[in-house]
Amino acid sequence: MRLDQMLFSQGFGTRRLCAGLIEQGLVTVGGQVCDAPDADVDTRADTLRYAVKGVDWAYHERAYLMVHKPSGYECSHRPGAWPSVYTLLPAPLRQRPPHTKSSAKIVGVQAVGRLDQDTTGLLLLSDDGAFIHRMNSPRHHVPKVYEVTTRHSLDARQIERLTGGVVLDDDPKPVAAAAAVAVGDNHLRLTLTEGKYHQVKRMVAAVGNRVEALHRSRIGGLALPADLAPGQWRWLSSQDLAALR
Ligand code: URA
Repeated sequence: MRLDQMLFSQGFGTRRLCAGLIEQGLVTVGGQVCDAPDADVDTRADTLRYAVKGVDWAYHERAYLMVHKPSGYECSHRPGAWPSVYTLLPAPLRQRPPHTKSSAKIVGVQAVGRLDQDTTGLLLLSDDGAFIHRMNSPRHHVPKVYEVTTRHSLDARQIERLTGGVVLDDDPKPVAAAAAVAVGDNHLRLTLTEGKYHQVKRMVAAVGNRVEALHRSRIGGLALPADLAPGQWRWLSSQDLAALR
């Protein structure tokens, strides 16, 4: 692939802007300055590394990321009262052009399901429409684990109702947690395979309790890494992706 085309695909702006960066000597490939926009780079090699204005990058045909979402951020490109979670990412990841092979015209990475402004924890983002769809689809039953701090002490009846099924206000069909465990008096570990609007908060309210704090600790076989601080992001490794299958 041409170097200017590669930079364009990774979100560094229009082809003209990318050619300009290259001609100004601001781009290195494998540690060497490359000032020819038409230089051929091997994007099949999984290991293509380059730098733009001194910042290192690895080439990714598709972007798969995790963020440790802090409280006080909205999962929206047009947030209301709070900053957007996308501001936690470098600009190129927000600007990636739609993938040529995909019918979904996704610009930049998108959150795989939303977390509320005050929810913390594991948030996945991608520019792969098929991946986003599979992770969100209730048909695929990808389990999401939430650590819930409740206002009132939990009792056995509440746990039973959460797994037995509760009716929420927008659907007469009951929704049930795949698992509900009282880890402490006010600490519930809830596993859901769907992602309805405010589902944890509404289910907990439906059994007569209330969510005081909510943290997503796991999606499928992928746990939020202990060394990923709130506000930090990282690429998903091939092992991470395998854990989500
Ligand atoms: N359920 C909720 O109520 N809020 C979230 O952010 C996620 C799941």
